[in-house]
Amino acid sequence: MTYQYWDPQIEKMQRGDLEALQLQKLKTEIGYSLRTPFYKERLSKCGINSPDDIKTLNDLNRIPFTTKSDLRDGFPYGFLSIPKDDVIRLHSSSGTTGTPTVIYFNRDDIKNWASFMARCIYGTGCTKNDVFQNMITYGLFTGGLGFHQGGEEVGMLVIPAGAGNTARQFKMMQDYGTTVLHATPSFLLHLETKMKEAGVERESLSIKKAFGGAEPYSEDTRKRIETLLKVDVYNSYGLSEMNGPGVAFECQCKDGLHIWEDGYIAEIVNPDTLEPVKEGESGELVLTILCRETTPLLRYRTRDLTSFYTEPCACGRTHRKLRRITGRSDDMLIINGVNVFPSQIEEVIMAMKEVGNNYLIVVEKDGALDRLTVKTEVNANTFMDDSRLLNALKDKIKEMLKVSISINPKVELHESGSLPISEGKAVRVKDTRPKDI
Ligand code: AMP
Ligand code: ZN
Repeated sequence: MTYQYWDPQIEKMQRGDLEALQLQKLKTEIGYSLRTPFYKERLSKCGINSPDDIKTLNDLNRIPFTTKSDLRDGFPYGFLSIPKDDVIRLHSSSGTTGTPTVIYFNRDDIKNWASFMARCIYGTGCTKNDVFQNMITYGLFTGGLGFHQGGEEVGMLVIPAGAGNTARQFKMMQDYGTTVLHATPSFLLHLETKMKEAGVERESLSIKKAFGGAEPYSEDTRKRIETLLKVDVYNSYGLSEMNGPGVAFECQCKDGLHIWEDGYIAEIVNPDTLEPVKEGESGELVLTILCRETTPLLRYRTRDLTSFYTEPCACGRTHRKLRRITGRSDDMLIINGVNVFPSQIEEVIMAMKEVGNNYLIVVEKDGALDRLTVKTEVNANTFMDDSRLLNALKDKIKEMLKVSISINPKVELHESGSLPISEGKAVRVKDTRPKDI
């Protein structure tokens, strides 16, 4: 196989040169960080007052980890390193309730992001001759615009299709001769189910490749999509705090995701002790961004669990590879690609006086998609036989949850005291989706 490189000099850089480049970029990021209120205070506490206080990559270990809650505490401008007037865009995480975690970009940051994305896309064998249908949410979520910019940078014809509406997606695929898709893996599977229902012949489509990301999926799921849709599926990993997609991506070997080490310093730590894990062992991924001025982030705890490959990749790239993300070290749920913390649901329902004391969040598979059901008890004073009142309450809960978590859940109301109570720690989430990673 002849592998395709966007920038071979960088992608095949010798380890020593790559680390020298990381050190130089880290010093630049430290300079940016010292201009933010949050890091100015934090870095001075560990004796870092200038980029020159960083002599080697090991000096990074002197800096404490940054967490999602630090980012929230710094909302809205605590992590901003340039005057607000020079910022041209913001994105924020798909978990939307309470204080968002927001990332700002200037023109160069956007350019850098687009070029990392182009590297990912081109590295799977796509070229300017491809027609790319981006079937993921546009907006604050980074998957839409991130892939869009990268596809344009490669010179592909990009269709900003957005998520959902399978009939329209098939029509566009046929009308424009789409060759490459991007969606959550669950939507790719759903597409196949709908294809049969809609009577769309596979032969009428020109699709060859699909990028699947934003949520965990197993090797079996990849194989299933590949067999059913007859496309090559490439795993895409990213998170909004690190720009979004474009952090790590599979090459044509489809065996692990190269993390772009000229854009990110990656560490893997034990989530309990926060000590580095042994080579090849699994732990929590911690990232330092090296390609963004406007919102620097140093040693950010992603909460994603993974491990490094120890073998070099057959494609010749020297940037290390990550194994599939197997889960998270916190309780965040990913439902059809959208991040949801159980606490967000609790906040909404427990604020309603008609709601009782116990609730249960159920996540299950409904065909290829995820389905969220919120079961909640009603207050002891609510009459279970007044269906008009109950329906109104159900609609109200649904509406408020929709606003808070951007997902339309099913809501079930139960009599006071009827939902199971566990003896130990409350079990608030029942996630029955198969975990076969
Ligand atoms: P967001 O900030 O909304 O982009 O969500 C980022 C989170 O989605 C990551 O921290 C991961 O937990 C999850 N995620 C993204 N891509 C993947 C992937 N390829 N495999 C598993 N989880 C993923
Ligand atoms: Zn490779």
